[in-house]
Amino acid sequence: MSQMAQEHQAINLSQGFPDFHISDELIRLTEIAMKSGRNQYAPMAGLPQLRERIAEKKADTFNCSVDPETEITVTAGATEALFASITALVHSGDEVIIFDPAYDSYAPAVQLSGGTPVHVDLCQPDFHVDWELVGQKINSKTRLLIINTPHNPTGSVLSSQDLDELEKLVKKHSFTILSDEVYEHLIFDGLNHQSLLRRPALRARSISVFSFGKTFHATGWKIGYAIAPPELTEEIRRVHQFLTFSVNTPIQYALAEFLESKDHYESLSLFFQQKRNLFLDHISDSRFVPIASHGTYFQLLSYKNISEESDVELAVRLTCDHKIASIPISVFYKDRKDNHMLRFCFAKEDETIIKAGEILCRI
Ligand code: PMP
Repeated sequence: MSQMAQEHQAINLSQGFPDFHISDELIRLTEIAMKSGRNQYAPMAGLPQLRERIAEKKADTFNCSVDPETEITVTAGATEALFASITALVHSGDEVIIFDPAYDSYAPAVQLSGGTPVHVDLCQPDFHVDWELVGQKINSKTRLLIINTPHNPTGSVLSSQDLDELEKLVKKHSFTILSDEVYEHLIFDGLNHQSLLRRPALRARSISVFSFGKTFHATGWKIGYAIAPPELTEEIRRVHQFLTFSVNTPIQYALAEFLESKDHYESLSLFFQQKRNLFLDHISDSRFVPIASHGTYFQLLSYKNISEESDVELAVRLTCDHKIASIPISVFYKDRKDNHMLRFCFAKEDETIIKAGEILCRI
């Protein structure tokens, strides 16, 4: 859709990336690291001072204790952390529970590892998890359950009660949880991010994955990390060692220093909540119906009152004829279920959001 947006010079609210600048200070710190010769391979698990800052940040935000030496691995984006975790844990004959609609990297990694994805639909209208149904899908072959909160593409978030339900399942069965928490700081309406790191019983059985790209508006830097108990971390590092070995050294130095201040990431919720509200205000006179987004930088809009076209057809028509690009939600479903909804990314300059609203009100 991004390519199509470019070809048709459409406003691109499809792919999830900001159109505004990253912090000048972060660029300055990267430049200092590069100019002072920090340009050779970093240690395999990540720069020790960066892992220490991450551990401090997690202690501060989630009140948990993480050992930087044995529990944190810095990776080439969350994508690598997810892939290395799945490859390390899933083998031929294993089943992996994935909630649909799902971020697109999970199922292919499971299949490449010889595993079978078991897709469970989130329940509408608010895309919540039916834990009873999940319980019915778990069996002796279930190796992994993948959760994502705040959730791409729907903007739904897991609650503390959801984690209670997950804890009950973990006590009864032997699966591991892979928790994609890349939007940890993008959570709105006074809600708290329910990281698995907050719960000792869940933390002991899970890998949590994060992304600096999302937190620092720098998706092109592709740097993230995985946090897991030592025995799981050892397995992840066995894959990471031969997948990338180590990631960008100067950026790790810069991030280690930048993380000493909480100002940036503590301001993110409000920053993106204002963007979400601006988008909602500017489409309020349109015929699109928003689905509540409590996190991420995505807003789902239902077009049930507008058209009977498939979501793919409408997304293409909006891009070509109306010059606004979005993502059809059916592509996030294994069975291409069409809910007649499109996903719009509001991580954009206010001016772009206002222009997008004007177009959507004319449709
Ligand atoms: N998980 C989710 C839910 C995402 O939305 C993304 C990015 N679109 C990623 C993982 C990948 O993050 P990164 O860019 O750090 O690899």
